[in-house]
Amino acid sequence: MSNNPPEQGHDETITFDIIGEVSSPYKEKFAIPRQPGLVKAAKGKITLLDDANNIDLLRGIEEYSHIWVIFIFHATQQQGWKPLVRPPRLGGNKKLGVFATRSTFRPNPIGMSVVKLDKIELNNKRVELNISGLDLLDHTPVIDIKPYIPYSDSIINAHAGFAQQAPSKLLTVTFSSQATKVIQANKKDTPDLETLICQVLGQDPRPAYKQLTTKRASIDTKVYGISLYHFNIKWCLITDTKIEVIEII
Ligand code: SAM
Repeated sequence: MSNNPPEQGHDETITFDIIGEVSSPYKEKFAIPRQPGLVKAAKGKITLLDDANNIDLLRGIEEYSHIWVIFIFHATQQQGWKPLVRPPRLGGNKKLGVFATRSTFRPNPIGMSVVKLDKIELNNKRVELNISGLDLLDHTPVIDIKPYIPYSDSIINAHAGFAQQAPSKLLTVTFSSQATKVIQANKKDTPDLETLICQVLGQDPRPAYKQLTTKRASIDTKVYGISLYHFNIKWCLITDTKIEVIEII
């Protein structure tokens, strides 16, 4: 990270072991919510790996409803970082210091998300944590898991700059008859697909500058695609508050 000699007692480089890997319905970055908890229907798993694949490491964690997942932004880490970033939520118009944001492009590509811990399972000798509300890409490497402690981790009346409130705009989502048929046909394997699509698209995953344009001018006619589970979902805006899912493949 720097050319300066390391301070006494500090190693310049620290290596971490990957202790788990995320399985997520989000197969690409586009449309993943900006923070955990915004899309509660997003369900995934953390599979523990190597020496961490031992149920003893989790003893007692079932007493906690939520956990911190500390992970690597593996899909963007090669792109490096800059001291100033343009938070997407501000429409890309304003630059802020990287440490004043949750940007994925950081000096150390480490992310942290609070997710709901639904269940712990042992599957073919693999320890799996079932989680929901995640904002994580499929295959995200996990480097630590910690219990969420409300008395310390939740600070009432804390100031949070431009991110004081969760994004409030919620769009309604309708489905074409083709999309409805596919959802029905896959009810057994992906029972929450419809809810997941509604919650993900309801947040309006388009870049903030597109959302601003829609408010000001004519409607955005572009057909967008998102990948959830193994589905490719095509959708577009039909009014400035309504999305239509055109096709699910
Ligand atoms: N809650 C975490 C935090 O505050 O550190 C992540 C916040 S970051 C703004 C959330 C975004 O990270 C998601 O919308 C998604 O685009 C991106 N993301 C999630 N998993 C990723 C991964 N493994 N590699 C790169 N980007 C990822």
